[in-house]
Formats: sequence, C-alpha cells, structure tokens
Amino acid sequence: MKKHNIMIPKPRSNFVKIECENCQNTVILYTYSTKIITCQSCNTELVVNTGGQAQILGKIIETMD
Ligand SMILES: [Zn+2]
Repeated sequence: MKKHNIMIPKPRSNFVKIECENCQNTVILYTYSTKIITCQSCNTELVVNTGGQAQILGKIIETMD
C-alpha cells in the first residue's frame, strides 16, 4: 500500500506589520483577528472581517512569528 504524504500547509505568521496606505502609519496585528482594525492615526480600515476570515487591506511590510 502506498503511503500518502499529507502536506500540511505551513501556517502563516501570526503577526504582521501593516502600513496604512493613507498615512504610512504602521501597526502590528494578529492575522487571525476577527475584528475590524482601523489605523490609529487616520481611521482607515486596515483589516476587515469577511465572514470569519480577516482580509488585510493595508500593505503588509513585515511578517513575524
Ligand atoms: Zn492611516
């Protein structure tokens, strides 16, 4: 019997640094957040929740563990 190699996708980094495209402010946030996250300086939405999955709207400039 042939053994299947189950590929487990590497989890993405838990934390990302995102730059607000409006004011270049950077925020570090948790990628699995289900909350809407807004830029603290200009209030632009950086992360929105699209049915259980966070969608990052800002520019990801760095990922960290
Ligand atoms: Zn901003």
